Amino acid sequence: MADRDDFHIHATRYRRRENPEDPGGATVAEQIAAARSNGTRRVGIVEHCNASPRHPWPCLEELRTEFEAVADPECFRGVEADLLPGGLDSCTIRGRELLKLDYVIGSVHLGPPDPAGFSVYLGEEFVRLAAAAEHNPNIDVIGHPFISGLRYAAAGAVPRWSFDLVPLPWQETLLDLCRRHGKAIELNCRDISEPGWLAFLDRVRRSGVRYSIGSDAHDTGRQKFAAGLWRLVEDMGLDPELQWYPGKW
Ligand SMILES: [Zn+2]
Ligand SMILES: [Zn+2]
Repeated sequence: MADRDDFHIHATRYRRRENPEDPGGATVAEQIAAARSNGTRRVGIVEHCNASPRHPWPCLEELRTEFEAVADPECFRGVEADLLPGGLDSCTIRGRELLKLDYVIGSVHLGPPDPAGFSVYLGEEFVRLAAAAEHNPNIDVIGHPFISGLRYAAAGAVPRWSFDLVPLPWQETLLDLCRRHGKAIELNCRDISEPGWLAFLDRVRRSGVRYSIGSDAHDTGRQKFAAGLWRLVEDMGLDPELQWYPGKW
């Protein structure tokens, strides 16, 4: 039976507020309390680590300070780092040490108009994910692969998003690289009935790759997305032995 884990929960209190009067989003303690009330077993708290002015480095240091008060061996501290050209990440091993992280999720965050065109975007995301899986020792989890395709669909660059738009050899190459280099692939999807994504999930099952479950909740309410993923992992028969958590391997 799959463990009810969620390793992609954002503590959005730790980002720069547009308005100083704004009380800000969820703290680490609030997200952990919500996760426990949802029946989540292992809880992973992250915030973005990238060059955006919304996520300056001191915010991550504040998150670390709050997390230091957590004395729960099943709660883990991570970041969601941007994957850059060449599969490098915006956290780096030095940042990981300074923040005393348990894990790093590496995600591609691109959107129209940069890079221009859907097919250019798709190719760029594949190249970055594959390079990170193969060459970046700082990355534990490949975050929400190809989810930025939704932004291109929203901008009208493609009629609709489906995971089927990712060429099959790319899907298989990414899973193979993750399997060979011990990276977990993140299961993180808003539309868990999308046939293309379900077919990808079946490829995850057959590939023998490690997987991590992430709701990508930016507030306490959105942690509910994890429950759909837990059910699906169970129903599709993914191997519980391959369910990743920090320090398991
Ligand atoms: Zn992301
Ligand atoms: Zn996220």
